[in-house]
Amino acid sequence: MTIEPSANVPIPMLDLQSEVEELWSEIMDAIQRVLRSGQFVLGPEVEAFEEEVAAFLGVEHAVAVNSGTDALVIGLRAAGIGPGDEVITTAFTFYATVEAILLVGATPVFVDIAETGFNLDVGAIAGAVTDRTKAVIPVHLFGEPVAMGPLLELAESRDLLILEDCAQAFGAYHEPSDLAIGDARTEPARVGSLGHVAAFSLYPTKNLGAYGDGGLIVTDDAELTAAARSLRNHAAARERRYVHQGVGYNSRLDALQAAILRVKLPHVDRWNALRRSVALRYEEAFKEIEGVRTPPFKAGHVFHQYTLAIDGGRRDSVQSHLTGLGIASSTFYPSPYTAWPAGTLTEGQTLSRTEAASATVLSLPMHAHLGPEEQGRVIRAVLDSASST
Ligand SMILES: *Cc1c(COP(=O)(O)O)cnc(C)c1O
Repeated sequence: MTIEPSANVPIPMLDLQSEVEELWSEIMDAIQRVLRSGQFVLGPEVEAFEEEVAAFLGVEHAVAVNSGTDALVIGLRAAGIGPGDEVITTAFTFYATVEAILLVGATPVFVDIAETGFNLDVGAIAGAVTDRTKAVIPVHLFGEPVAMGPLLELAESRDLLILEDCAQAFGAYHEPSDLAIGDARTEPARVGSLGHVAAFSLYPTKNLGAYGDGGLIVTDDAELTAAARSLRNHAAARERRYVHQGVGYNSRLDALQAAILRVKLPHVDRWNALRRSVALRYEEAFKEIEGVRTPPFKAGHVFHQYTLAIDGGRRDSVQSHLTGLGIASSTFYPSPYTAWPAGTLTEGQTLSRTEAASATVLSLPMHAHLGPEEQGRVIRAVLDSASST
């Protein structure tokens, strides 16, 4: 019997060190440039990042803030969403999406997820609109773009704001066929460029991650941009120091983070393509397993997570098998909303697909530097445990 040398080396969910090693000297140059500049919060480095990232995403304006959560909160407030307003979204998301709605004093209203994939059911939104509904937050969960065409048409006819939660989908894009009827563009559109405003997280584990907290608001709307710029900096009046227009936040991006993000930005498409090639290998291996659903493999999906749905109560045993072999896995999200504070859910509401997803999801190791041998070990472990019986 031969023992593979790497057979017991743990396989983590993601690998932030390889990315640093790849760009080490450029990152060090950027850090030194900032340290020598003496400008550490906002300033030219952040402005340059905002311009470069806006061009990358195909939007007019980008406003860099302290986190993805702040991007959602400030995005909502800049758009005038507040107490008394209802905001429709999904409960199958990271809690921050919902927390942001509560933080601005608005009421979250949930629709269930769609029959395939893990994104909200766009077809169910119209039925949840009331005369208090002001906005919809589609979450491009796990890096899968929500089909924006039908959503934008609904928004237009009901006068709703669309705020995209792009925290998990940096660089993801929509094919022209996903766009609204009448949208004449022939090039793919990046996630975040189609809604009225969008929020990104630059948390280290996201597809474009800083080496600390960070977030981004993007929009084509100049007024909303000005409001967001003011809110991130204590509601300061433009060009007039110590004049404040209201109550804002201290939510500014550091120059060090901006400089590092500028080094990483040109590599994101390549890293996302590598994630897609890992996902493709997983898809080929897992698509025929009975009772296991693979995620939709649509163009433009950037696989922030690669998430299986394992039916028949076998999810936990598959996870234990992986754990025993030193292979990490996660159950995003184990308790979607039932464990959230009172008041987050309309009384009596149930979201059956969302609940079912929580009991069946299993996310596998996924990052740009996951090698072929590691992929092989993950695949074998899943096949061995999920195919049996
Ligand atoms: C990460 C995340 C956020 C919050 O971003 P932070 O930068 O951690 O504040 C919001 N929504 C979703 C879907 C996320 O994954």
